[in-house]
Parts: sequence; structure tokens; C-alpha cells
Amino acid sequence: MMSDKTDYTSDIASLYQELGVRKEVLEFGREIEAGLKERFAAIDETAEYNQLKVIQAMQKNQVSEGSFHYASGYGYNDAGRDTLEDVYASVFHTESALVRPQITCGTHALAIALSANLRPGDELLSPVGKPYDTLEEVIGIRPSKGSLAEYGVSYSQVELLEDGTFDYENIRKAIHEKTKMVTIQRSKGYQTRPSFSVKQIGELIHFVKDIRPDIICMVDNCYGEFVETIEPSDLGADLVVGSLIKNPGGGLAPIGGYITGRKDLIDACGYRLTSPGLGKEVGASLGVMQSFYQGLFLAPTVTAGALKGAVFAANIYERLGYPVIPDGRESRHDIIQAVTFGKPEGVIAFCKGIQSAAPVDSFVTPIPWAMPGYDSDVIMAAGAFVQGSSIELSADGPIKPPYAVYFQGGLTWPHARLGILMSLEYLVREGVVDLC
Ligand SMILES: *Cc1c(COP(=O)(O)O)cnc(C)c1O
Repeated sequence: MMSDKTDYTSDIASLYQELGVRKEVLEFGREIEAGLKERFAAIDETAEYNQLKVIQAMQKNQVSEGSFHYASGYGYNDAGRDTLEDVYASVFHTESALVRPQITCGTHALAIALSANLRPGDELLSPVGKPYDTLEEVIGIRPSKGSLAEYGVSYSQVELLEDGTFDYENIRKAIHEKTKMVTIQRSKGYQTRPSFSVKQIGELIHFVKDIRPDIICMVDNCYGEFVETIEPSDLGADLVVGSLIKNPGGGLAPIGGYITGRKDLIDACGYRLTSPGLGKEVGASLGVMQSFYQGLFLAPTVTAGALKGAVFAANIYERLGYPVIPDGRESRHDIIQAVTFGKPEGVIAFCKGIQSAAPVDSFVTPIPWAMPGYDSDVIMAAGAFVQGSSIELSADGPIKPPYAVYFQGGLTWPHARLGILMSLEYLVREGVVDLC
């Protein structure tokens, strides 16, 4: 049967309504969005620069159709894989890179970078306080099988100052002859400290190198890629590490991690990932190369969409009186947004809204659940094409005071916008927020 005009909705407002967003929520969102034109223009400008940077890197390294060919077995002469690593090295302005599907996640990439370049008797220093949860077991802060501590690598940590800046005096004191490597986490992750700008990280690296130029400075770049026009390697980082199911995978990479930096350090990572003597020469790419290249190509605009979503959410919930980190006006150094609701109903309704806006599993209702490694129930919302992908629209929050929800991602700005409008819709439906 031919469809006629009454069979479908042709205007945006009605389609939002069909998806479940009431008029008052849509109008509130429109009003907030109208005040964000300049912010969004700045985000688009960063994306424009980064898009050109990625294209330039692909052209310079002569990416071709052959770069996408399937390679199996040992993966000797896997040209697509080697060229992709050259492209990453060009984008990050480094000598070399390791970008592999055999790197299972961000934690694995960080564990490789650390264990490849530390030896028994060496010390690792974190001058930015506690690292990401999963790294506690890698380092051995929490006792764990196979940790760096088990191999005789010691660890020290300098807390940030009250205002979230670096405690230079104590960092100087913490550096001694055993200090071999410094690890700097760019994103706050799930802590309440601010995320660092690349410029701040550059200053910290400069300070460390002034004391001991031979100390290896590694940056955990997770969630930070393409948020600014420069990366930590542009300001002195020896190693920059991240996950391909976050920003640089552009939503298309189905797995993987990257390490980019100085050639000798990257070679060591290759020997650690595969085997001494083999290094980067082996490790077949098994047909994922097209998604790695295409994901990197899309990453600047995908990251921009996620950033717009984060800024939009900050401004919506700030206007409604909830504490938000970062706030509505702050400059951004990663794609994570925290909103504190002060009660469990807020966290739960928010997550239900995010879930209901997903392209996948939208019919599922997220509920708080006990999770290994957490001391309270946790609720998670994600309807992702790639399992656990957090460049895709997702939210989670522990059900404990202060009842904050952490939200990130969105492969496109229209999807991030829908997700945030749906989160507000659920808060209104469940009586947490009153828009009148
Ligand atoms: C996500 C993340 C990691 C770990 O990445 P996984 O892929 O989850 O293992 C490490 N550090 C930071 C700051 C992160 O955001």
C-alpha cells in the first residue's frame, strides 16, 4: 500500500513526541540549546582542525584500498596494520605507534606501556593522585596476581592540591634515582577532580623533565582524544595511551587500544605485547583494519557530537539546580559529564531515559545491581553497537550518596540530544523534576 501523508510524521516536534519527549521538555531543551551557539561553534572548529589533521596523516602515509586487506596467521608484512600505526604516529606527532586488535582494552594498553618499560627496582610515580580503578590492580596498589608490585616495581603517588592543581613541591620530593616513569591521567574518570588540559599536562611534564630529563612521561589519554587541537605528545609526553572503544575508534572499531610515542619505548611495548624477539612484526589484523581507519577518520566529528551532548546536559541540569561537573561554561578536556541528583530516584530516572533513547536495547529497563569491585549497587544504561563502548551514549551511577550519574558519548549530536531530552522526560515522569 502506498503511504500517504497521514501515515507518518513529517515534522520534528511530532516525531519527538512519538518517541516519548513531551512538548515542555522539548521546549526547555530548545531554550537551553539556543544559548549554546558559540560553544558549539568552538567545538565544530576543533573538529574541523582535527578532521584535517587526520586526513593529512592518511594522505601522508598513502592509505590505500590495500590497507584494508585481510591478514591472518602470524601477520608478517601486514601492510595495513603497519600503515595504520604510521597514521597514528603522524596524528599524534610521535616517532612510532602500536595500534592493535590484540590490545583488548584501555587497561591492557596501559598495562603494556608500563610493564614494557619498567624493570625490577624501578619506581612509578603518579603526580596526579589516585589512578583509574583498574590500574590499581595493574600497579599493585590493590594486591593482584601479576601486578607490577609482584615484579618488584615500586609505586608512589602525590595527591593533587585542594584546588585540583599539581603539588609541585611534593612532586619534586617524590622524584629520586629509582623513579623511572611518571603516569599522568588526563581525564578525571569517575573522580571529582577536574580533568587536565593538554597545556596543564605539558607544564607538569616540563617540570618533571627539568628535574630528570630521562624520566619517561606517560599519559593515560582515555576520553581525551580530539577534544582539543593538541594531544599530550605535542607537549612532551613520551607515551600516550588509550582505548579504541572510546574516542579514537570513532564508534566503528570493535576492539583495540593504541600506544603512541618514542620509538624505543614503542618497540619495547611490541616485545611485551607479543614476545621478545618478535615484537611488532607479528599480530595479524584479521580484517578489522577498515573499521580502525574509518573510525579514526570519523573520530573528530564523533567526539564533537559527544562534547555537545556533555555541554547540553551540563546546561540543562545546571539550570534545573543540580550540581554538574564540569559546569555549563567551563572549557572541556574530556567527554565525561557528571550530574549530582542527591537522591537515587534521580540517578535511576536519568539512566532509564538514556536507555530508552538507544538504537539498540531501547526496550530494556536498567535497574541497580551489585557489581564486582563496587561497594554499592550500580545502575548502567547503554544500548551500544559495540559492547561496553563508551563513545556511544551511555550513563552509569553508583546508588550511594551523593547520587551522581556519569554520562558520556553519543556517536551523533542528534542522538546525544535525544538521550538527554529523554533523561529529562523520565525525571519529569517520575516526579523528580517539575518543569512548571
Ligand atoms: C576507560 C579508562 C581506562 C580503562 O579503559 P578500559 O577500556 O575500560 O580498560 C583507563 N583510564 C581512564 C581515564 C579511562 O577513562
